[in-house]
Amino acid sequence: MRGASAQIVDALPQPGGQLAALYPEKFIFDVAGFPKVLAKDLVEALAAQAGQFGQPIHCGQRVVALEEADGLLTLVTPTDRFPSRAIIVAAGIGAFSPRQLPQPCAAPWYGRGIDPLVLEPQAYAGKHVVIIGGGDSAFDWAHQLQGIAASIALVHRTDRFRAHQATVDQVMAAAAEGRAAVHTFHELAEVHAEDERIVALELKDTKTKTTRRVRCDVVLPMLGFVSDLGPLGDWGLTLEKDEIVVDQTMATGRPGLWAAGDITTYPGKLKLIATGFAEASMAVNQAVHWIYPDKKVNPGHSSNLAVFGQKDD
Ligand SMILES: Cc1cc2nc3c(=O)[nH]c(=O)nc-3n(C[C@H](O)[C@H](O)[C@H](O)COP(=O)(O)OP(=O)(O)OC[C@H]3O[C@@H](n4cnc5c(N)ncnc54)[C@H](O)[C@@H]3O)c2cc1C
Repeated sequence: MRGASAQIVDALPQPGGQLAALYPEKFIFDVAGFPKVLAKDLVEALAAQAGQFGQPIHCGQRVVALEEADGLLTLVTPTDRFPSRAIIVAAGIGAFSPRQLPQPCAAPWYGRGIDPLVLEPQAYAGKHVVIIGGGDSAFDWAHQLQGIAASIALVHRTDRFRAHQATVDQVMAAAAEGRAAVHTFHELAEVHAEDERIVALELKDTKTKTTRRVRCDVVLPMLGFVSDLGPLGDWGLTLEKDEIVVDQTMATGRPGLWAAGDITTYPGKLKLIATGFAEASMAVNQAVHWIYPDKKVNPGHSSNLAVFGQKDD
């Protein structure tokens, strides 16, 4: 909109940050203009909006370093380099990756029967699904996959859950009616496969040490995410509890570097999508003015901009 080129570099395999990775199927009720919107639908709309300008989004690119030379800042990933005149850090809670199952028997099946990220419920249509975990994601998916998966079994090490009680109740009710199974005090003991496909899991009762076999095509480990701020700590920024201290212009203190979203902190900060939108606008317009000092910080109104085919009234 401001006539600058821009690229997004993100570690995740798809755009959308926490919304896409942590709660795609949850409704959001406090984004302006939507009485309620599924997180994945908001991401799709945002990607379409950003896509109007044809700027690239580089997914699956984890930034591991920042280099600076001759007025250019370069984000470095294991495979590529992204030079730019200005950078806006919108790294949220850091690059996050799903926590892996600790059992060595699980490792060979990641990506071919064990899905660390669940994006599309229909991918599990007609499958026997085993969900491992006892938090919100485990219960949300156990509930969401009802009527889609052929069977759903939820496996948890204890009988204490860290999930919304209403969802726990729904899954327990489904279990009582035989529409799902909940195995508390159980953990993965062995993966059984035939023809290179998972066909069943051996579950061990952590109290009695006995095992039981459950039918399984797909395992969804829902053990939470580990997030890693990665190289940000070395970029000469002021950090407070893993957040970047910014001023009211979203400046980080390092020339050419602004920040927006959950990664930022200042008095009164709210970690909300609405806040992130406003902070991103401020950061972008400051960065544009920094690169092109003749362009004003104030972007004017999009409803009047020639780039959208509008003219000043
Ligand atoms: C379960 C849940 C429900 C929520 N519900 C709401 C709600 O109803 N309303 C609301 O307003 N907010 C809600 N939030 C909060 C909201 O999701 C966040 O405020 C928002 O996602 C912040 O966006 P962000 O872009 O700043 O960070 P993120 O969404 O965390 O995105 C940061 C991105 O940076 C990438 N990244 C980080 N480090 C690197 C690196 N080194 N290299 C490459 N990429 C990197 C990550 O991969 C990620 O994609 C909820 C959060 C959760 C967890």
